[in-house]
Amino acid sequence: MTDRDFDTQDWQVRDRAHYLHPFTDHAGLRQTGSRIAAHAEGIHVWDTDGNRMIDGLSGLGCVNLGYGRRELVEAVAREMAELSYCPSFFRTSHRAAITLAETLTGLLPDHLNHVFFQSSGSEANETAMRLVRRFWDLEGRPEKRVIIARELAYHGSTHMAASLSGIPPMYGAGGDVPLPGVVHIRTPYRYRHGRDMDPAEFGVVAARWLEEKILEIGPDRVAAFVAEPAQSAGGAICPPETYWPEIQRICRKYDVLLVLDEVVMGFGRTGKWFGHRYYGIEPDLMQLGKGITSGYLPLSATVISDRVADVLIDKGGEWAHGYTYSGHPACCAVALENIRILTEERIVERAEAELVPAFAAGIRSFVDHPLIGDCRSVGLMGGLEIVRDKATGEAFPYEAHVGDHCSAEALKRGLALRANGDTMSLMPPLVTTPDQIAEIFAIAREAIDATA
Ligand code: PLP
Repeated sequence: MTDRDFDTQDWQVRDRAHYLHPFTDHAGLRQTGSRIAAHAEGIHVWDTDGNRMIDGLSGLGCVNLGYGRRELVEAVAREMAELSYCPSFFRTSHRAAITLAETLTGLLPDHLNHVFFQSSGSEANETAMRLVRRFWDLEGRPEKRVIIARELAYHGSTHMAASLSGIPPMYGAGGDVPLPGVVHIRTPYRYRHGRDMDPAEFGVVAARWLEEKILEIGPDRVAAFVAEPAQSAGGAICPPETYWPEIQRICRKYDVLLVLDEVVMGFGRTGKWFGHRYYGIEPDLMQLGKGITSGYLPLSATVISDRVADVLIDKGGEWAHGYTYSGHPACCAVALENIRILTEERIVERAEAELVPAFAAGIRSFVDHPLIGDCRSVGLMGGLEIVRDKATGEAFPYEAHVGDHCSAEALKRGLALRANGDTMSLMPPLVTTPDQIAEIFAIAREAIDATA
C-alpha cells in the first residue's frame, strides 16, 4: 500500500468528483465527505483513517457470515479459473448453477422445485412479477393482474420493485412509479396501527386488510400478494404469530398467489434458515438474495412452485425474460460455499440458540428508556423506535431527523446501525459473539442517550 491509499481527504475529493452513491443526498455528502472503507474482518470494518466500526447491519443485511472468509474467496477464484462466464441461454448450462438450484430446492419445502437466477433482489422481484402475470395469462385469466403489496415495504429500485415498495419518496425518484396495477395495504405495524390491541387479535385484523382489498378490487382481478415475512427496511416490523396463517388462508380462498420476498429474511436472519419456516408460510414464489452469498458477490434467486412452473413449462413456450448474468458461475460457486459453511458450522442453529435470546434481551432492555416508544425484534433483526412522547407515541417532527442523528452518534462510537425513519434498526452478522452483542447494545444506548 502507498501513502496515497490511506489519504482519506484525497479519496473523498475523488469520491465527490465522480461517484454517485445509491440513496444519497449528494449535496449533503459534499459537506461531510464519505467514510472510506479500507478492509473488513469478521464483524468489523476499518476505514482509511484506521477507525474500527462494528457492522451492526451486516452490510445491508447481507454479510451473514461476516467478512473475510478465505474459503469464499478461494471458491470464487477456483470457479473463475475454471469457467469465468457462461450464459444460461441457448440451451447451455453449467455445473455451479445446476448444483446451486438443486441445493436450494433441497433446503426449501417440497413444492418449491424450480429456481431462476439473477444478480439482485430488485431483479428477483421483477422476475417474480413478470412470472405472476405470465402465469395468469397462460391460465387463461389475463384479467388477474393487480398486485397487492404493503406500505413501508422495500422491494428494490427498478421500476416494478420500486412500485411494490411502499415508500412514497421512492415514487418521486424518477419514472412512472408506482406502475399501474400495483396497490398497497397497511402493514402489521402494531405500534402505529393497533397498540391497544392484543397482538394475536391485531395479527388477524391486519391480515383482513388484505381480504378487504381483494374484495374491493374483485378477486378475479387480483394476481398476487407480495410481502416480506417481517419487514426490514420498513423499520423492523415483525408481525404477530396470527398474521401469516390468516394471510395464507385469504390467498388460498381467493386464489391469489402468495409471493414472499425473503431477500433479507432468507439464510438465517430470523434464527431459522428462512422466514417462511419461522412463520409457517407456504409461498407460491419466493425471492432470495443478499445472504445467499453473504454479500461476497451479487446473486439472487426467484424460487418457483411446481404449480406455477408446470404452467410456465408446459403451456408457455419460450419465456422471453432473463439477464446476461443469470446464474453467473462465480456467483453460484460462492453461494454454494456459503451454504456449505452455514450448514457444516451450524451457523444458523448456533445463532438461534446462542445469539437470538441475547439479542432479544438487548432489544427489550430499552423498554423503559424514555426516548424509545417501541422495541421489537425477530431473530437477529431488531428495531428501537425513537419517539418524542413515550406516553402518546408522538414522533419527533421529520425535520428533526432524530434517526440520522442517532446513527451518527453510534458511528462516532464505532457502531453502524441504520435509521429507518426514527426506528434504529440492527441486523448483526450471524457470527457475532454474545460479548459483541452486549457491546452493540451498550453503544446503541450511549448513542440514543446522546440523541435528544
Ligand atoms: N427486497 C428486500 C426485502 C430488500 O430489503 C431489498 C434491498 O434492501 C431488495 C429486495 C432489493 O435488493 P437489491 O438491493 O439487491 O436489488
